Amino acid sequence: MGLLIKGARALQLYPEAISKVMDIYIQDGKITRVGKNLESELGSGKVQKVIEAQDRYVMPGNVCAHNHFYSTLARGITANIKPSYDFVAVLQNLWWRLDRALDSSSLHYSGLVGAIEAVKAGSTTVIDHQASPSFIRGSLKVLKETFETCGLRGILCYEVTDRNGFEDRDRGIEENVEFIEYEETELLKGALGAHAPFTLSDESLNSLSEAVRAMKRGLHIHLSEDRYDLSHSHHCYGLHPAERLARHRLLDAMSLVIHGVHLLEGEVEILNRHGSFLVHNPRSNMNNRVGYCALLPSLDNVAIGTDGIGSDMFEETKLGYFKSREAGIGFNPSDYTRFLCNGNMILERYFGDKFGRIEPGFAADLVILDYRNPTPMVADNIGSHFIFGLGAHAVETVLINGRCVYECRQFPFDVERIYAEARKEADRMWEKMEGL
Ligand SMILES: [Zn+2]
Repeated sequence: MGLLIKGARALQLYPEAISKVMDIYIQDGKITRVGKNLESELGSGKVQKVIEAQDRYVMPGNVCAHNHFYSTLARGITANIKPSYDFVAVLQNLWWRLDRALDSSSLHYSGLVGAIEAVKAGSTTVIDHQASPSFIRGSLKVLKETFETCGLRGILCYEVTDRNGFEDRDRGIEENVEFIEYEETELLKGALGAHAPFTLSDESLNSLSEAVRAMKRGLHIHLSEDRYDLSHSHHCYGLHPAERLARHRLLDAMSLVIHGVHLLEGEVEILNRHGSFLVHNPRSNMNNRVGYCALLPSLDNVAIGTDGIGSDMFEETKLGYFKSREAGIGFNPSDYTRFLCNGNMILERYFGDKFGRIEPGFAADLVILDYRNPTPMVADNIGSHFIFGLGAHAVETVLINGRCVYECRQFPFDVERIYAEARKEADRMWEKMEGL
């Protein structure tokens, strides 16, 4: 028994394609057939649920390749934050106080709201990077439950760092390893999380490297987000940060390197040689005033993340494109939508399935859009429709692994109650931060 989407127009961002009106049949989490009049061909016995798309567009779900659900309750924070004039001060005065204030309950609501808003925005996968130094052990399990409540696909990891001492560093590595060993599911995989080279000694990189090889998962790490990471690496180790990771055998096709704003040309070559992904987070880079990754065109594998500013990949991709225009880089809209679609390649590496197309054999992670194009939309101008017209406002129904998790803009649970609880948790957490 399967699910049938009737009367849909398949919209594919990359390679760009739009189909004629057709049906999509889904079984066991995958698209198994596409074509006309599938209902009569299949017979009613094979169809458990029908979704009438009524000529709407259906596209593969968006992938947010870097996020921090632990920061959802930072929105509008009123805790007393000292003026922070540079990147490291922002970390010290805001983020490293917020993550220490997190406990099981605040993380639960932070993750839950993060997952709800991801699905509502048409993101079917979120790759998360978790930090909660006062609650390390079991934190990934709490996050896992929030993903499962919303039916969201994900790759989770805990951010290993030396900044809270070596015991906490080791606890962080264990949290990653235990998640991979005991908590992975069909929809949730683990990675080895690490903060950034400037908060990790060589000994810590060695421990991470051992775990990467033992677990056969990739490293997920911030790199050269601010110039400080680069100068720290030069000063303390005489190496560029990417060079240092490569020396510790931490770069491979499963690695996710985040930001890379200050990457040097030699480091781009290192990332390309290892087949690693660079995840670009344009809104975060603009907000932190750390600069723009001008070497994006030279990188083989670029995906897009939000770095904790929600999970709306329509918005992130648009602003990234506009930033590239301002920076004078000759990208077309379709270059940016291709970066967005590249997130599916990360999923293929972690889940071993096929993602990102509406064809038999591909995962049924799909979004039905209520988008009325006022001008013709054809394969050649999908990128422009995406940047200048489409948006999370059009997301009507979301399927993940073949299951309808959000239908006609409704979740199958009480969202209002969760938001009310989240507001109470945010209040409690902000108060706690005052004493940290
Ligand atoms: Zn980040």
